[in-house]
Amino acid sequence: MPDVYLYDTTLRDGAAREGLSFSLEDKMKILRHLDQFGMHYVEGGYPGSNPKDHEFFDAASRVTLENTRLVAFGSTRRALISASRDREMKALVASGAKTVCIVGKSWDFHVETALKISLDENLYMIGESVKYLKKKGLEVLFDAEHFFDAYKDNPRYALKTLEAAAESDVDWVVLCDTNGGTLPHEIVSVLEAVKEKVHVPLGIHAHNDSDCAVASTLEAVRTGVTMVQGTINGYGERCGNANLCSVIPDLVLKMNVDCLSRERLARLTDLSHFVSEVANLSPDAHQPFVGMSAFAHKGGIHTSGVKSESRTYEHVRPDLVGNLQRVVVSELSGKSTLILKAKEMGFDLEDDKAKLADILKQIKELEHAGYQFEAADGSFEILVRKEFGTFKQHFRLESFRVIMEKREDGKVMTEATVKIHVGNRRLIATAEGNGPVNALDRAIRLAIGRSFPAVNDIELTDYKVRVLDEKKGTAAVTRVLIETSDGEKTWGTIGVSENIIQASWEALVDSIEYGLMHERQQPGE
Ligand SMILES: [Zn+2]
Repeated sequence: MPDVYLYDTTLRDGAAREGLSFSLEDKMKILRHLDQFGMHYVEGGYPGSNPKDHEFFDAASRVTLENTRLVAFGSTRRALISASRDREMKALVASGAKTVCIVGKSWDFHVETALKISLDENLYMIGESVKYLKKKGLEVLFDAEHFFDAYKDNPRYALKTLEAAAESDVDWVVLCDTNGGTLPHEIVSVLEAVKEKVHVPLGIHAHNDSDCAVASTLEAVRTGVTMVQGTINGYGERCGNANLCSVIPDLVLKMNVDCLSRERLARLTDLSHFVSEVANLSPDAHQPFVGMSAFAHKGGIHTSGVKSESRTYEHVRPDLVGNLQRVVVSELSGKSTLILKAKEMGFDLEDDKAKLADILKQIKELEHAGYQFEAADGSFEILVRKEFGTFKQHFRLESFRVIMEKREDGKVMTEATVKIHVGNRRLIATAEGNGPVNALDRAIRLAIGRSFPAVNDIELTDYKVRVLDEKKGTAAVTRVLIETSDGEKTWGTIGVSENIIQASWEALVDSIEYGLMHERQQPGE
């Protein structure tokens, strides 16, 4: 038995995030992934009130889960009706899930103003709903909505709602910080009071509106709760839920809480990226533990420190959570950064002093001309590969032409034509776009798409232009940074020129070459 049970609600509470929507297929994929990862409970949705969720429970009942208990979510019975006649209660039982979680009101203010029923009726609703589900042989959780706010307003009544569930043999009482406004020290003091009165296993469900959801969850574990609820990447309504991608490594690596094996923990980064890909949201590079930049180091002394002993600048070893150490190339850094960075790409510069000096010299010249490789790891890798002779150019430019036309009606049309060679084939393509870069991007893809279908899997995600005026006065130099993604990995490329279109072209070509160089396998499950 684990010390603490992990309860994921990405598919239910997480899906409440603005702009996020999971198809049935998406939900099944995530469920299987969470099961493989070792999540103890996965809340799948509301079978009673949402037809899409009903289909999901249908499909999920045909899957054998190895580690996960699937949970159906609903609310306590409606007022003034018996639980056995409540449609939603019946749907919970019919869902086939062996565990159900029902949410009920703990805050007298909500009972009186939202439900408009008597405080006693609310207690009956909680008790009778739990009893009904227990009688059906289910494991039952009671989610006490707004519990911490409720306790502040009327502690006596708030506790009565938990007691109503406990007296009906509920398996778990989960205290919810539904509005996310409670601070960690308040969570602790309320929990201490609850522990005195309620003698069933307790869980915590925190929202992040005060940016404290993870901290509150950890404090709750220290105070004795044995279930943590949260979502992958902290997805959820408004500011999100407690982020399990932080809660879990904190529990395992820092608090020595037995909830997941080290072996499974090493799949955390993969899980985080998988869920963001299915959610069609770009992964947050700066997310603790699992972000691309979570173990990225910049600056000379700092990076040589990391190289000799990672503990000097890293709070945990990146491989423990399945992440990688990365070295960011910058003007500030010297040889040690370069050696480390090349090593990441599989090149040994340590023993090749001549090449090292050569690359350093090139970088210095390029930086002087306005290049900057910190956000352009793609262009940097191409530079190093060229030096080692392992860069394979996929296509070669003969010429490009961009035409812009502004019409009387205010419309601006851009058209680009590229002439490109792939092997000994000469390819010509013309495309329109909403600007010169967009038109060029489309024209290149059109020209080489048939030779390199992988180009269709990569996509420009960001385009930044900066004018560097420090040099020639009137003829200012423009730096273009492009960010590209294949849905999982993101890379940056750079171009610098007095001409913005030329600078964009340079960055664009690097971005596509890099994408083809690292052509990704089809996403697996
Ligand atoms: Zn919630």
